[in-house]
Amino acid sequence: MKDTGMSTRALWAGEREYLAFGATQVPVVHSVSFGYDDMDDWYQVAVGKKEGHIYGRNTNPTVRAFEEKIRILENAEASTSFSTGMAAISNTLGTLLQPGERVVSIKDTYGGTNKIFTEFLPKQHIDVTLCDTGNHEEMEKEIEKGCSVVYLETPTNPTVKITDIKRMARAAKRAGAVTVVDNTFATPVNQQPLSLGADLVIHSATKFLGGHADALGGAVCGVKHLVDDIYHYREINGATLDPMAAYLLLRGMKTLKLRIDRQNENAMAVAKYLITEDMVEDVFYPGLSSQKGHEIARNQMSGFGGMLSFSVKGGIDTVRHLLPKLAYANRAANLGSVETVVGPTRTTSHVECTPEERAAMGIPEGLVRYSAGIEDIDDLIDDLKCAFQSLPKYIR
Ligand SMILES: *Cc1c(COP(=O)(O)O)cnc(C)c1O
Repeated sequence: MKDTGMSTRALWAGEREYLAFGATQVPVVHSVSFGYDDMDDWYQVAVGKKEGHIYGRNTNPTVRAFEEKIRILENAEASTSFSTGMAAISNTLGTLLQPGERVVSIKDTYGGTNKIFTEFLPKQHIDVTLCDTGNHEEMEKEIEKGCSVVYLETPTNPTVKITDIKRMARAAKRAGAVTVVDNTFATPVNQQPLSLGADLVIHSATKFLGGHADALGGAVCGVKHLVDDIYHYREINGATLDPMAAYLLLRGMKTLKLRIDRQNENAMAVAKYLITEDMVEDVFYPGLSSQKGHEIARNQMSGFGGMLSFSVKGGIDTVRHLLPKLAYANRAANLGSVETVVGPTRTTSHVECTPEERAAMGIPEGLVRYSAGIEDIDDLIDDLKCAFQSLPKYIR
């Protein structure tokens, strides 16, 4: 599939080997174990000398097809999968970091990831340094002091801040550290961290990869020897992706390119509209040329993504009135779905943090996260306009 385009890959990649009975679609193989009449064959598969499946916690054909598709989309040597995005993140950090070692990351990672850094890793005597997101000089200095992992997420959740992957991967290489990038917001359609020097890419497949908000999952792609270690950690610790979820994610991924192109367009149009709305204080979208990370985003991304956020005058009181008025948006905690999804950040991505912690991360209590769906753009903008216009007089 080397020279094929993203749309063709999203459809065809990784499936052929897993088709059965002449079916044109990958089956959901609901079997905990896989039997062998030949004891030597069984042994060869068990010790990894021969392809095959033994036990569902380790591998499963439907799950393998999902892993292959994301591997090919990310142009990676190897891939493995997880029950959730957070399992992918915790298993990766658990594999790469030992007591006494150090990880350098940013302050604006996903709320759950931030909790791993601030609550769980310190208990295991792992030193965590979180730099101001977008302060590349600070991050380079911290990496230079020595670390085993540089962990990035770009664009970030929810204020879509940008980090220069190539520059940070270069600093990590000099320090002998592994570079990990959470690519959930961008997807391989908009950004390919491995081609920018990263060693590992992580996904919450729950979001854009699946795209239909009906299945949880996670993936890690990258350098084979690292992915092998992470796979081993996961097969023992047990955060396995379910075959039914793998099927739903695989099916969703077929339209990844179409959906992301549309979501890129819709998010840009919504961001441009929001700038003109009186009640809006601030709009965060990497596609806006006024944005701090815009130039870096232009260099390392081929599209700016479906995620944006905005803060409103009157803070959470305005948000309380505004969001219920939207007809074409789910008010929910997920993102990356075909339907538009909105939510106050203090209730969604950063609910694990205290108001003080959110303030320290530059997240106003009245910030709204907006995940553009694939609706007709005129409907999305009309919906927002109407919602703003029907705010109570005392607010407007
Ligand atoms: C949602 C999300 C995660 C966690 O994924 P789950 O599938 O919910 O466990 C990690 N990183 C980012 C950027 C996310 O948006």
